[in-house]
Amino acid sequence: MGTEREGSYHVSSSFRTQIGHSELEEEETQCDPSLPYNPEFFQGITDAVLSLYPKRCPHCDIVLTSRVSTRPHVIRCSRCHHMASRLAATPLENMRVPQWMFGWCVRESVVLHPRVLTAVHIQRSLGLNAKAAYRMKRRVQLLASDQMVRVKTLIRNELEKSFRDYRLPPEGTDLTAIRK
Ligand SMILES: [Zn+2]
Repeated sequence: MGTEREGSYHVSSSFRTQIGHSELEEEETQCDPSLPYNPEFFQGITDAVLSLYPKRCPHCDIVLTSRVSTRPHVIRCSRCHHMASRLAATPLENMRVPQWMFGWCVRESVVLHPRVLTAVHIQRSLGLNAKAAYRMKRRVQLLASDQMVRVKTLIRNELEKSFRDYRLPPEGTDLTAIRK
């Protein structure tokens, strides 16, 4: 592994590779103000996703929590003001489109399920170019595969809450008698 220039926190290069582009390729995309979506709502979803990838301060060893209002990609240490990228080493790595658009894609893929979120649908809905839309789709896929274990745990906990007093019979039990 090479030395990262921002070296103060661990940067996984795997997301970058999997998204399939270098940092220079992705251009800043301006948000079309006529889009019929509530950016604040979808930013909340993006923030929730990013919270699955907490960044720690290398000096104070605490989770970075302070935001910089003028720099949405930056997160800062509340104690020593060390700064790091919120998107590095996450499926949103190097993303240049407005962050809320990722939240929109995540929610849209949940709403559409079992139908699939297509790049064309993203392109038309968010007014992105084809390449940017394809990358957004890819990022959602990466999040899904990366977080599958955690998502499964969430679902299991939810089920345990709902069926607290119900116990499944031991594995291998013949269920035909119970099913009547
Ligand atoms: Zn610090």
